[in-house]
Amino acid sequence: MNLSQISQPFLNQFPGDFSGNPMQRQTPGFLFATVDLAGFKNPELLIFNEKLSQEIGLGSIENERDLQFLNASSAPDSLKTYATAYAGHQFGNWAGQLGDGRAIIAGEIINPVGKKHEIQWKGAGATPYSRHADGRAVLRSSIREYLMSEAMHHLGIPTTRALSLSLTGENVLRDVMYDGNPDYEKGAVMVRIAESFLRFGHFELISAQNDVENLRKLADFSIKNYFPEINPESPEKYAAFFENIALRTAELMVEWYRVGFVHGVMNTDNMSVLGLTIDYGPFSFLDEYDLSFTPNTTDLPGRRYAFGSQAKMAQWNLWQLANALFPLINDEKKLEKMLNDFSENFWKKHDEMMARKFGFSEVLDGDDRFFSDFQQVLQDTKADYTLFFSQLEKLQQDTDIQEHFKDIFYSRLSENHLFSFENFIKNYQIRLSKNTISRAESLAIMKRNNPKFILRNYLLFECIKEINEGKRALLNQLISALENPYEERYPEFSRKRPPIYDGQTGSSTLSCSS
Ligand code: AMP
Ligand code: MG
Repeated sequence: MNLSQISQPFLNQFPGDFSGNPMQRQTPGFLFATVDLAGFKNPELLIFNEKLSQEIGLGSIENERDLQFLNASSAPDSLKTYATAYAGHQFGNWAGQLGDGRAIIAGEIINPVGKKHEIQWKGAGATPYSRHADGRAVLRSSIREYLMSEAMHHLGIPTTRALSLSLTGENVLRDVMYDGNPDYEKGAVMVRIAESFLRFGHFELISAQNDVENLRKLADFSIKNYFPEINPESPEKYAAFFENIALRTAELMVEWYRVGFVHGVMNTDNMSVLGLTIDYGPFSFLDEYDLSFTPNTTDLPGRRYAFGSQAKMAQWNLWQLANALFPLINDEKKLEKMLNDFSENFWKKHDEMMARKFGFSEVLDGDDRFFSDFQQVLQDTKADYTLFFSQLEKLQQDTDIQEHFKDIFYSRLSENHLFSFENFIKNYQIRLSKNTISRAESLAIMKRNNPKFILRNYLLFECIKEINEGKRALLNQLISALENPYEERYPEFSRKRPPIYDGQTGSSTLSCSS
């Protein structure tokens, strides 16, 4: 691997704490602190994403040193590995300094076409930001993140990526149910890749410290490196910066709604400035359509981060970012307008996305009503979100509607629900007849926008169980399925969640323990 190509522009440009002291503490005035990898004695590489490694310019594993790098046993001597400081609003409350509690950054690599990628380990040991935790990650949550971030990428959704996953050979103590019964689990370490891991929380922290100089520097750094659409010479560049983040965030939310992804912990420290899906924890795809669904047990009381609330919460998070960037923009009216534009943007893009899922050539007057009827009917009938659209693609003029959709519901339908469902499908057929494109073109649009394979939580649950038993068949099948999500290669994975997983901990409900 081209480990010697890894550079450290962030470390070289910002003030940091170079003491190397891993003791947990506040680091005011610093954007990062250097820290060594914990190092593992008996690590074992489980998955390596060779294709991604080539793409980013790291290349293949050639020797023991490369393996040690992926396994977080050791980093090249030339690198000062570091953890960054950020803050955040968690579940609506200011949480102060958080930071990379178990992420350690190696640096950045630039591929032959000039694209930048940051490389970081997750679970490689404690940092000054570990806040009484151990800086480790467990196999269970690491497999979930590895597979899901790759699944999102292949669905075409902006996300951080997974380069490798290793067992650390250590056991890690976790209280999965938060009920005072901790148990040992296998420890794991991942290598993650993103153009940048910068979060809203990075800006919130510096702003809360009234450090306008570094706030400006970090905004300039972000604009220069990650926002080619902004003119760095423009006097309006910071407003444009915020506007672009809001736009990317709106687009990301639309994409999450397209495939039925629920993040579960949309705190501002888990919001990427670049509009990427980041920090996979208690996430889930929707099985049955439910706007109030949250997979995160910590979120159950308020359902703050429920499926149907994600766009609203993204906007709330953007308010916090707007506050943080205020010293650079100094224009309340402008910021308020951009925040209001977020809703407008979101809904416009959302309706265009829904139109594509239904195979409409464009959004017509009255379609917003059609889409809200759709939400109501799916919610009432507990229909599987993904299977609904798969069946819709196969619908013919003379299809028996009841028979055609019979396998997509999670409950027995009442006469009323059956009637409203059939009615909705008939309205759909009428609406479809207003298309200005051929049926074949319409179907092609549907096929590009409706996944046939989603990485359902129960599949992940089974996969983790198998790996813990030393088996890898399901893992390999899932990797192949998630790389081709718009094809139905594995019909056995394109079925409803089996009833045995209803309410199952670790499948239907998940804790943040990872
Ligand atoms: P999360 O809810 O996973 O986004 O994490 C919130 C904060 O807790 C971040 O600063 C994480 O780095 C930190 N954190 C979570 N788990 C651990 C862990 N096992 N060790 C150290 N820090 C952690
Ligand atoms: Mg996080």
